[in-house]
Amino acid sequence: MRAAFTGAAGGSSPAPWSGLNLGLGVGDAPERVLAHRESVGRWLGAPLVFATQVHGAGVRVLSGEDRVARSERAVGADTCGEYDALVTAEPGLGLGVLVADCVPVLLADPEARVVGVAHAGRQGLVEGVVGAALEALLGCGARADRVRAVVGPSACGRCYEVPARMRDEVDAARPGTASTTSWGTPALDLPAGVVAELRAGGVEQVVVTGICTLEDERFCSHRRASAQGLVTGRFAGVVALG
Ligand SMILES: [Zn+2]
Repeated sequence: MRAAFTGAAGGSSPAPWSGLNLGLGVGDAPERVLAHRESVGRWLGAPLVFATQVHGAGVRVLSGEDRVARSERAVGADTCGEYDALVTAEPGLGLGVLVADCVPVLLADPEARVVGVAHAGRQGLVEGVVGAALEALLGCGARADRVRAVVGPSACGRCYEVPARMRDEVDAARPGTASTTSWGTPALDLPAGVVAELRAGGVEQVVVTGICTLEDERFCSHRRASAQGLVTGRFAGVVALG
């Protein structure tokens, strides 16, 4: 089993994208993005599958056939469909989740040999994407008390400023997410919301990287780039069974 978060550095994309941009649909050349995906897949030891993420709670369980389907897909359309979480028990199939401030979540039950990824932004968290991903993992034989989760680099609760009403609405749906920025305005702590949902599902082995994409320039941040009137790339959380 192998898992990682990629960073902004490396790869061949020019500014304003991150060098190792893995996101299609942000204006970068598809050939470059696909070459980056191939190289991360080689490191992982398994070709990577990505979904077109739509800030929902849809989960796709991938089988061996999806590896074949992927290799036949046209350049520029490297997606298995519109989902925000992927799960597989297939060795040799890598799962990737793309982010630039949203929370990348990696899941694995090493004993049942099943892995998953989830893209948990504000909207997906409210819709229950983390619980849905966990449910699918359990459906493939995982047991919550054996599941290991990693909560990756994302906008932190001291930086993710939102209007007060939005903070209250999200906190009502996902208690524990309300936060305050370091400059004293309403904010959301999405990693805290992810951890709460994992614990509610019985997952105790949770590693939180604690890295903030807005503060740490080793990672892409949509908010940091937008504040400068720029686009940026996407980095990824990836996992595969060995
Ligand atoms: Zn921060």
